[in-house]
Parts: sequence; C-alpha cells; structure tokens
Amino acid sequence: MEMTPSQQRWEAWMTALTDVLAAFPADVTVTCPSHADGTVQVAFTGDPASRIGYYTAWCDTCHEGISSGRAGAPEGMPIIALRDSIEGDPDIIPDDVRLLPPDPYLGDDAEEHTF
Ligand SMILES: [Zn+2]
Repeated sequence: MEMTPSQQRWEAWMTALTDVLAAFPADVTVTCPSHADGTVQVAFTGDPASRIGYYTAWCDTCHEGISSGRAGAPEGMPIIALRDSIEGDPDIIPDDVRLLPPDPYLGDDAEEHTF
C-alpha cells in the first residue's frame, strides 16, 4: 500500500527521532526531514517517577515536528515534567512547534504548508 505524502513525511520524522535516540547519549546531527533547513531536536515529556511519557522531535529552524507514542525514558534522558509542558516550556520545546498528524493519517488536509 502506498503511503500518502503526509505519511511519508511522518515516517521520515520517526526515522529522524530513531536516529537521535540510537545515538543517545551522544549528540548526533540529523537534518530536518521536512525541509532540510535545520537540525532535529528531541525532548522527553513525562512522569519523572515512572519515566513514562513521550518524545517530541522538532526542527530548530522551521519548528515542524512530531510527538511519539507512549515511551519510556532511557537512563540519563532529561524528563520535562508533564505539568510543566502543559504550561509551556519555551526554554526547551518552542511554543510554536507544529506537530505533524500521526500515522496512520488518511487525509491530506493538513499536509500543505507554505513557507
Ligand atoms: Zn525544518
């Protein structure tokens, strides 16, 4: 089954997130899958006690990105407490990050962006 353009973009972001996590705790430079205009940043938001939460990956230039499904934080991964992220944490995740719709995504209504 062929993936829609939005699914392909989402998959590219998941690959980028996987690449960053595979290198952790080393830093790795992963180019923005959406526009190749910046570097992929990753942060983990969740419960510091259980270390369960989700990842946000975004481009430091266009601020496009994704959030992962439920995940556990590896040892040494800084955790943004859920409460803090709801209130916004501009020092880590920019307030204007545009999260791509998750896979599977059956419509392309949200696909078009103008830059
Ligand atoms: Zn970008």
